[in-house]
Amino acid sequence: MIGVLGIQGNFAAHRKMLDRLGVASREVRTVGDLDGLSGIILPGGESTTMLKFLKNEGLMDALRAFSAEGKPIFGTCAGAILLAKDVTGPAQESLDLLDIGIQRNGYGRQVDSFITEIPVPVLGEPPLELVFIRAPVITRLGDGVETLVELDGKPVCVRQGNLFAATFHPEMTDDTRLHALFVKEAEHRG
Ligand code: GLN
Repeated sequence: MIGVLGIQGNFAAHRKMLDRLGVASREVRTVGDLDGLSGIILPGGESTTMLKFLKNEGLMDALRAFSAEGKPIFGTCAGAILLAKDVTGPAQESLDLLDIGIQRNGYGRQVDSFITEIPVPVLGEPPLELVFIRAPVITRLGDGVETLVELDGKPVCVRQGNLFAATFHPEMTDDTRLHALFVKEAEHRG
């Protein structure tokens, strides 16, 4: 059973991806909703709004404890901002879990949304379609943070142990490979 933070943003699309993989999922809005989950996805949307909700619900510490148990967390776009240790543009509090620096809306206004395709060795053929929507940019990688997908020499999907983050929206394509990778990890660790 995989949880998808269901406050705001793209949670329904993530659940559809999990459905397509035959994986059961549940929306998470309270601390109790975390019970029995093998992993959780933090979707894209508006990180400031999600942060407020997480704080009000006591989910900040609950998610930190979830991670401390080694359970996988996958943050996409705004979800990646929630996971990152350092957030800029503007600065904002976070779960402070994944050792990266991240700049919100880092592609700027002129090119704030775009779609591209690149080969991803860890996923094999065909190339992966990447959808960026007012996406953040990863500005710093801590020791032990591994790059899974790189675009123009910059990391756009990374992993540190049980933590995964993508600055794009894997749930907005037909390609379930990244979700499958995450679910496999949840099966091992969750
Ligand atoms: N710009 C948003 C933020 O700062 C993230 C955008 C997204 O998740 N597509 O939270």
